[in-house]
Amino acid sequence: MNFIPVNEPLLDGNEKKYLIECIDTGWISSEGPFIDRFEKETAASVGRRYGVAVSNGTAALEVAIQALRIQPGDEVVMPTFTIISCAAAVVKVGGVPVFVDCDPYTWNMNPDQIESRITARTKAIMLVHIYGLPTDIDPVLQLAKKHGLYVIEDAAEMHGQTYKEKQCGSFGDISIFSFYPNKHITTGEGGMVLTDDPKLAERCASLRNLCFKPERRFVHDEIGSNFRMTNLQAALGVAQLERLDQTVQRKREIGRLYRKLLTDVEGLQLPVERTEYAENIYWVFGVVLQDSIRCSVEEVMEKLKQSGIGTRPFFWPMHEQPVFRKMGIVSDESLPHAELIARRGFYLPSGLTLTNEQIRHVTKVLISILKEERE
Ligand SMILES: *Cc1c(COP(=O)(O)O)cnc(C)c1O
Repeated sequence: MNFIPVNEPLLDGNEKKYLIECIDTGWISSEGPFIDRFEKETAASVGRRYGVAVSNGTAALEVAIQALRIQPGDEVVMPTFTIISCAAAVVKVGGVPVFVDCDPYTWNMNPDQIESRITARTKAIMLVHIYGLPTDIDPVLQLAKKHGLYVIEDAAEMHGQTYKEKQCGSFGDISIFSFYPNKHITTGEGGMVLTDDPKLAERCASLRNLCFKPERRFVHDEIGSNFRMTNLQAALGVAQLERLDQTVQRKREIGRLYRKLLTDVEGLQLPVERTEYAENIYWVFGVVLQDSIRCSVEEVMEKLKQSGIGTRPFFWPMHEQPVFRKMGIVSDESLPHAELIARRGFYLPSGLTLTNEQIRHVTKVLISILKEERE
């Protein structure tokens, strides 16, 4: 069998047709009809009023943080088990990310640990849904209301997922999506900021486009960025959005098949299939090695690679990042669940081009590797 990559995008819908349309009409920059269409259709798909397309998910987080006017010294509570984009967006404006441990089973931020982190300087809570299962959102919204805080929802891994039947990407004051190739909708690189507030939407659009003043171009009251998405990217996005339902259905099939084949394997913790509020869409299929497996995650990943199977390690906790240690942003406090899964977790090939035969092969190889390593 050929090498099975950890992810490969599926681009066999209208992607090519729409890209040719861009080239035939000459609309290849950040102006062009697909941008507006992609923004409107994405916002409508989650029930938001406004979508502002940007160049990637990290940029979307930066725009969101700046749009909410997070100032130097302001604190934003967020999970420690996430990608650095979340914390970096806060640090870049002089704010302070405050980290919360994850639940050992859902791998999402534990809402019970949020309130003790709220201080007089807290301005916002950032929700980040991890690996296909949404965070428990209601308790977070209640806390935010009680303490007068903004809520930012990072739904980068959640296209097509719901929380209590309501679309992810529609919660809090502002939400973001990423369209990186391993996300359920990809534009190569790309992202979006979504909100229901017209003023916030306008501010996001301005921050994405260098804060040009509408009355007099090249005069600026504020510093923005060039985070514009191109019409070419949006053309891909429109085509990808057309089959989001099938994408989510297939991701669930992939997850279920992995679960079925791995369910009785000793020493392997699998993703949670469902909670009270959602069924997993397995953005990636993560596994965590338990104590009975003696060897390291790196060794298992290396052996899989030798057998032609691509994997990725789990996120590394934010409170253990060398860069934040150096900056004095984090203390020595332990957040044990995130520390454990970061050291013992990795994910298997989970892309849309994966066949059931490949999934069976991956599990067979993994099971035989683990058999050698058990006590
Ligand atoms: C992918 C991802 C991002 C960053 O998106 P990019 O488009 O890669 O910049 C942010 N947050 C989460 C949770 C992600 O998974």
